[in-house]
Amino acid sequence: MRKVPFADFQPLHNKIEEEIAQQFQEVYRSNWFINGKKVDEFEEAFAKYCNSKYCIGCGNGLEAIELILKGFDIGKNDEVIVCAHTFIASALAISKAGATPVLVDAKLDYYLMDVDKIEEKITDKTKAIVAVQLYGQACDMDKINTIAKKYNLKVIEDAAQSHGSLYNGAKVGSLADAAAFSFYPGKNLGALGDAGCVVTNDEHLAKKVREYANYGAIEKYHHNVKGMNSRLDEMQAAFLNVKLKYLDETNQFRRQVAEQYLQNINNKEIILPQVAPTNEHVWHIFAVRTQERELLQNYLAENGINTVIHYPIPIHQQLAYQEMSQESYPNAEEIANTVLSLPMYYGMNQEDIEYVINTINQYSSEKEKAKILHK
Ligand SMILES: *Cc1c(COP(=O)(O)O)cnc(C)c1O
Repeated sequence: MRKVPFADFQPLHNKIEEEIAQQFQEVYRSNWFINGKKVDEFEEAFAKYCNSKYCIGCGNGLEAIELILKGFDIGKNDEVIVCAHTFIASALAISKAGATPVLVDAKLDYYLMDVDKIEEKITDKTKAIVAVQLYGQACDMDKINTIAKKYNLKVIEDAAQSHGSLYNGAKVGSLADAAAFSFYPGKNLGALGDAGCVVTNDEHLAKKVREYANYGAIEKYHHNVKGMNSRLDEMQAAFLNVKLKYLDETNQFRRQVAEQYLQNINNKEIILPQVAPTNEHVWHIFAVRTQERELLQNYLAENGINTVIHYPIPIHQQLAYQEMSQESYPNAEEIANTVLSLPMYYGMNQEDIEYVINTINQYSSEKEKAKILHK
């Protein structure tokens, strides 16, 4: 039987292995592993890629969001608005900064924050909105920025899933006061370990983020605030310098896979993802929805196709956020109960793409139920 993994690093990694090996050797022989030339080079290149002035490397995506909040002096007794349907890190970063996440429901069309429900959640304590650019496309940023202006709030992009994505022709990372990126290996731009960065046009924020990420010091051993250690190291920066050169090509490949899925999956039981007219999607995740998700996932697994659920439990139903357990976000709950991510990666071969399409088109929940009954 054909086996289709959910994701596979090999097609890209095979292609760039020599370049990566050379970078490894350069850093290895440089005797310099923290805050050196490779980090400078990456920060400059990625700021430019995002059409932003400043990029500050840090340890991971979660800390990138936390650092932005700290940089804006958002913490204790403050509230920050975020979507109920997201990866937990979007909310955890707010909690880690000492502030309280306040949830807003998602919408079923693009699986993104329902911007019409933001204003009803704004109080005297609200300081910021985290716009999660989930699955590979941006939220309605015009609306979010307009609301933020009216109430004097900061807007922070959680851009961990949208490297290279466009909104009205502008790059994700340049659409708000600041953006947080993750370079977790599985992201569209991934390191070979943990890494992240903050991107912004705000000079003051850039300075504060750098200070906070460096034990609260700008000048060595002069600590102005109780900061933390969150760094992008030389080795990961060197690898990212290589991979950044391939980001547009790998995103283009993902778009081509998504286009085939969108054109050819025609099973009435499957709801396909949609792209907002303002957006160029980078398909970090290709998420379909179906009422009998478990049947579909098992059926695909029996046919050798690996899928993943992003994400099965909305924030307010996580044990970590028990204090929100009485809250209700019907669309976020609906998405969590019905969503399923199909295989999507650079270098996926054409037969595998067609096999996924044909296998899904032959799926019938009735037939699967009948099979279970007759077992
Ligand atoms: C991956 C991810 C993060 C966290 O990034 P890490 O580098 O894993 O800490 C935050 N938000 C979203 C939406 C993510 O997908």
